[in-house]
Amino acid sequence: MLAVTESGQTAVNVLLSLDETYADVMPVRLNENSASAFVSIMRGCDNMCSYCIVPFTRGRERSRPISSILDEVRMLSDQGIKEVTLLGQNVNSYRDTSDSTIYNSIDTKLTPGFKTVYKPKTGGRRFSDLLDKVSQIDPEMRIRFTSPHPKDFPDEVLDLIKERSNICNQIHLPAQSGNSEVLQRMRRGYTREAYLDLVYHIRHRIPDVYLSSDFIAGFCEETELEHEDTVSLMKEVKYHVVYSFPYSMRQKTSAYHRLKDNVPDDVKSRRHLQLRDLFRQEALKLNLKEIGSTQLILIEGESKRSPLDMAGRNDGNVKVIVPNTNIPESCADISTRKIQRGDYVVVKIRSANSQVLHGIPLYHTSLTEFYNKDNLITEQLCQSSAL
Ligand code: SF4
Repeated sequence: MLAVTESGQTAVNVLLSLDETYADVMPVRLNENSASAFVSIMRGCDNMCSYCIVPFTRGRERSRPISSILDEVRMLSDQGIKEVTLLGQNVNSYRDTSDSTIYNSIDTKLTPGFKTVYKPKTGGRRFSDLLDKVSQIDPEMRIRFTSPHPKDFPDEVLDLIKERSNICNQIHLPAQSGNSEVLQRMRRGYTREAYLDLVYHIRHRIPDVYLSSDFIAGFCEETELEHEDTVSLMKEVKYHVVYSFPYSMRQKTSAYHRLKDNVPDDVKSRRHLQLRDLFRQEALKLNLKEIGSTQLILIEGESKRSPLDMAGRNDGNVKVIVPNTNIPESCADISTRKIQRGDYVVVKIRSANSQVLHGIPLYHTSLTEFYNKDNLITEQLCQSSAL
């Protein structure tokens, strides 16, 4: 298309290839005012959730070769980016099969109680291999990923999250519903019990993990009792972030052909608002527990509400607001400087609401320094003397 424009013509193409991974198209960053970036690792999806249009518009699941992803992350690190989110419809079923000399005989092992509509994938390098390599590029760069499907959560991925301080302790675990019959109509491939078992397994392996989720309110034929199961699942799991939507039917999907979109709009809307309010109540309780804790935040920039404040995010991706002030260069340094975008800052949390934490910035640090266990005693002394 660029070649066409060289001859003075306009080139426009809105068609998205169903098989291309666009691996060789290196994105150009136009927004230089950001400390974070997104890196696409795969395209398409092989799941066939009955409500979803993605498999029809984006095609079959295909993964971008590891080498091109690593090149892009290195380039972002060189540009000073401090946080990268690996993006895909189903990131943890990533498989790089581009190098035929690398044969990985480990099949994709499904989470117990989960099933798929396709055969287990074999060969190539898996998401845990990618996460391992990406997290080693720059120990000062935070790594997140979204969106995973709950069916592929091998312990290797959980162990990497626990072991590597630059892989954030945050997992998005889209549930969509808390009722097994609704989940079956949605063709999600798991039951309420299997999902909850996975949540307990993850929390057992990573006790301080932050969980987020997606829910659909008023899916086809959803009864009041089925909706109540979603309410009780949300109460049981306690998510830090929930994205909920009233169901809206899409043409071409299996739900469009086989199910009835028969929950009235006002009922969908009421159920959606109930889920949203419940999430806020539960998130407030979780955030209030953070008061008094000392956290590492990555500064994103000035707060949208006040130029006197700076906004950042903690490991769990919760927004933290701090006064825009001069603070010590480091734990052991008395010279001070202003807080800037891309800085790692140690913060004492002082107050919270359901969406945001507020804190006092103590001093500048680096990600490796903050998590260095040998520094623990010095850091604790610094944190108490800075207060
Ligand atoms: S909801 Fe997600 S996993 Fe299901 S078909 Fe759509 S993109 Fe794939």
